[in-house]
Amino acid sequence: MLEIKNVSKTYKGSNKKAIENVNLTIEEGDIYGFIGPNGAGKSTTIKCVVGIHGYDEGEIYLDGKTLKEDPIAFKKQIAYVPDNPDLYEHLSGIGYLDFVANIYGVGSEKNDLIEKYATQFGIKERLADPIKSYSHGMKQKITIIGALIHNPKLIILDEPFVGLDPKASHDLKEILKSLCENGKMIFFSSHVLEVVEKFCNKIAIIKDGKIIASGLTDEVKGEESLEDKFLELFE
Ligand code: ADP
Ligand code: MG
Repeated sequence: MLEIKNVSKTYKGSNKKAIENVNLTIEEGDIYGFIGPNGAGKSTTIKCVVGIHGYDEGEIYLDGKTLKEDPIAFKKQIAYVPDNPDLYEHLSGIGYLDFVANIYGVGSEKNDLIEKYATQFGIKERLADPIKSYSHGMKQKITIIGALIHNPKLIILDEPFVGLDPKASHDLKEILKSLCENGKMIFFSSHVLEVVEKFCNKIAIIKDGKIIASGLTDEVKGEESLEDKFLELFE
């Protein structure tokens, strides 16, 4: 279980909290959607969880332990797919995945996993090609496979559906769904409200750095469509 408790952060040089008193709980099997307008604090929250940023107040626990207690053990349990993945463009897809596997100390068990996800994503034939020859969607797919290579318990994705064509977006949803069915936790930010509404069992909405609604999808949106709810909240 991931617990974000009363977390606040102000960026250096700013006099305003980028996020304020954020509270969220993500449990095994959850596909948790995180929505809010640009600048609301989604990426900041995500970066606090994965350890890219420190935070000023509050605490974040994964199964009761904080990142500060044992950063390596904490990070081994999570996967992070950033909104703008920076890849080593001169490497081949497979070269990149081998590199990531080495960093995490993953041995030959990576081969089955790469085979499985590359097949599912339809990029198996391109693994030997340099990443610089990949389309945006293919780069996104390689990043996602790399993020899953150490069999993380919590998978965090920042705007994962941006730039994916319908087939790639479908493939990604299938992969995320099967991960959840196996007891993992997924937390992702998105602007694609239809995907979040249909796909996530839980949703949090953030506005000006504060969570203004969170919980089961049906309870958060009520009788309305998520789009109507969203527009109403941000009028
Ligand atoms: P979102 O991902 O929801 O679009 P962000 O978390 O990126 O929002 O931004 C939240 C707020 O923090 C915004 O006001 C943004 O300008 C500010 N912010 C984000 N990153 C930085 C940074 N590295 N330095 C200073 N301010 C930042
Ligand atoms: Mg963002």
